[in-house]
Amino acid sequence: MEFTDAQVQRYSRHIILPEVGGKGQKKLSQAKVLVIGAGGLGSPAALYLAAAGVGTIGLVDGDVVDLSNLQRQILHSTATVGVPKVESGRRTLAALNPDVTVKTYQENVGPDNIMRLLPDYDIVLDGSDNFTTRFLVNDACFFAKKTLISGSIFRFEGQLTTIKPHQGYPCYRCLYPEPPPAGLVPNCQEAGVLGVLAGTIGVLQAAEAIKEILGIGETLADRLLIYDALEMTFRKLARPKAPDCPLCGPHPTITDLRGDYTVSCSI
Ligand SMILES: [Zn+2]
Repeated sequence: MEFTDAQVQRYSRHIILPEVGGKGQKKLSQAKVLVIGAGGLGSPAALYLAAAGVGTIGLVDGDVVDLSNLQRQILHSTATVGVPKVESGRRTLAALNPDVTVKTYQENVGPDNIMRLLPDYDIVLDGSDNFTTRFLVNDACFFAKKTLISGSIFRFEGQLTTIKPHQGYPCYRCLYPEPPPAGLVPNCQEAGVLGVLAGTIGVLQAAEAIKEILGIGETLADRLLIYDALEMTFRKLARPKAPDCPLCGPHPTITDLRGDYTVSCSI
């Protein structure tokens, strides 16, 4: 694959970076990233992945755009209120970069469809807003051996980590073995979230996805990054493998997606 003149111009600031170069830009153009949730995290992540020239971006979301989304979900606009989020997102990404193939799935991920979606992608970016989906995506990516970039936001604080147990690193359940009990953690609607925080964490997810594609820099696969927007602090904690992890440990109790993933709270 050769770049056109327009592509050389579009990606020139990447191509002149020795760590990316033409070779890295080609890797990006051949990469396939599945973005779960075209919401607060998925919006900035998908925009920067498209701008970077990631060749195929999958958007999964069953919702339509609501006016209350626009405080943080920058894939969408006032004009697309009422439009399915994946369609609104597809239009925005296509306008930004016509090189990118955007595949849309107007459905919410569940145990019945996730294993059908994963094989077409190299990297999964979880921008879901609830524990049910987060644990399901972790387990599905574990079984499908896909690298997962996980982000979450709550009020003024965000978390970010990379999950790739198929390369010997811990999984999400090494950190949190089980979802919290129902009702313990309120969802964004109940607790609120600083809109720009979604941008910060979503863009960091895109940065980690791009680094994974290029194979450069330090991985977050054995770290948990915690960002406090009020204090303006970033803390990076060690995230070790749990020897008795129910999913990636030597004696797993979770061996398929048939367990109960229903948690009636979200973060
Ligand atoms: Zn584990």
